[in-house]
Amino acid sequence: HRTRLMAGNWKMNKVPSEARAFTRQLLGRLEAAGRPEGVEVLLCPPFPALTAVHEEIVASGAGDWVQLGAQNLYFETHGAFTGEVAGPMLADAGCRYVIVGHSERRHLFGESDETVARKVKAAFSAGLVPILCVGETIDQRRQGQTEAVIRRQLEVALEGLDEAAVAGMVIAYEPVWAIGTGENATPEEAHRVIQQVIRQRVRELTGQAAAERVRIQYGGSVNATNIADFMALDGIDGALVGGASLKVDSFTAIVAAG
Ligand code: 13P
Repeated sequence: HRTRLMAGNWKMNKVPSEARAFTRQLLGRLEAAGRPEGVEVLLCPPFPALTAVHEEIVASGAGDWVQLGAQNLYFETHGAFTGEVAGPMLADAGCRYVIVGHSERRHLFGESDETVARKVKAAFSAGLVPILCVGETIDQRRQGQTEAVIRRQLEVALEGLDEAAVAGMVIAYEPVWAIGTGENATPEEAHRVIQQVIRQRVRELTGQAAAERVRIQYGGSVNATNIADFMALDGIDGALVGGASLKVDSFTAIVAAG
């Protein structure tokens, strides 16, 4: 079945020296607890900390089940794009995954569905697995647009991708109103959107095989207490965790629940 992906999105937190010390401590705890069956762990630090975190993962014995990811990339491979970071740079720094279209990128930095689609393709071109984030705002939710918004986000982002690509990627359902608010979607609501909206849309756009294989995470105020209720529902293939991924205790508990 699908390997669950327990991912920490550190957002703009931890300088490289903190990231290194944190990773060393976290990996020690994860290795002591042992790999939960069918679970993969992902750490997504800010760009300047990627190398330090990668070195710690390689030095630990957990490199086969703990992976490195980035939080963003640019869709060109190189050139005069001051301040941007390209997919091949992330791959060379040890990343296997990259988060694409996080709601903070979409809403604070103006990324459109079309920009997100280009970034998904750029991730694949660099040999990275994109984690495509989708989700509705509180206004969209109140207006009953949740399904339409997510269907549209997926349609644009998956345009032109073949079955193997979609089967191998990750989608994160992150309702914007649940991010950093302490107000998580109920597990039943997340399950409904993941199975009946997202997986169904993948089925329509790319086919049954991709819909069966694509991993779909939930994200938004996940913590050590509520994670088990999400993971109990078949079809939720892991979590994309913000605040609770910054603490060794809470992230260790989240991984153990995976
Ligand atoms: P929180 O877990 O802090 O709500 O953040 C979720 C998120 O945006 C992960 O990408």
